[in-house]
Amino acid sequence: LVVLNNVNKHFGALHVLQDIDLTIARGEVVVVIGPSGSGKSTLCRTINRLETTDSGTISIDGKPLPQEGRELARLRADVGMVFQSFNLFAHKTVLENVTLGQVKVRKTDRKTAETKARSLLDRVGVGAQADKYPAQLSGGQQQRVAIARALAMDPKVMLFDEPTSALDPEMINEVLEVMRQLAADGMTMVVVTHEMGFARSAANRVVFMADGKIVEEARPDQFFANPRSDRAKDFLSKIL
Ligand code: ATP
Ligand code: MG
Repeated sequence: LVVLNNVNKHFGALHVLQDIDLTIARGEVVVVIGPSGSGKSTLCRTINRLETTDSGTISIDGKPLPQEGRELARLRADVGMVFQSFNLFAHKTVLENVTLGQVKVRKTDRKTAETKARSLLDRVGVGAQADKYPAQLSGGQQQRVAIARALAMDPKVMLFDEPTSALDPEMINEVLEVMRQLAADGMTMVVVTHEMGFARSAANRVVFMADGKIVEEARPDQFFANPRSDRAKDFLSKIL
């Protein structure tokens, strides 16, 4: 569904993505881990072209992503993204946050969009908060709204960049539980996370990055039991 072919990107002298080849099948859950600065966020951001690339190709559902233009906007709407900071519109209610993109980008009529928004908010467990403003919600609730907002666009793939890193510990699980459910429902997902329990239980594949390269890819049970590269062994010894 998502294919990256020999993707390279530099920030000035820094070669932040080096010859990245990655194929994500429909329904697959890929967890990306690696040390700070290894390029995980940049990888996510290139998949929906928040960042341009210097060479290589990225395609979604068989369609190559252009660097810019109207076709890019259309393809980008197929990629949902959830960030560490929830990025909700502060001056809009929860319901409006989940309705807006449907009306503006997908041209859905408001009534249909609101019905869908309410059903998604129920699905992630924050239906009762629909008429509140983001600041009136806990971090975990805000992040679940952000997930509902992304889902409202009917994305083909969902990208999560450290969705629980900014949360208090007691709220991490409620967000991971929503993500687990989404995975079980067959959503294609790329998840950058330090939550190794989630990686073990929900991922089909772990991708380990270091210094802008994919160093290792494996099933989670294999990766955690028998990391092959020294970089991965070193990383796991520090976090487990
Ligand atoms: P973390 O675990 O800390 O989130 P990461 O693996 O997500 O790290 P990236 O954010 O992708 O790493 O950054 C990779 C490298 O690129 C880092 O050295 C970072 O300083 C650099 N970098 C990221 N964004 C930019 C930018 N816009 N301009 C210049 N350098 C950047
Ligand atoms: Mg990052």
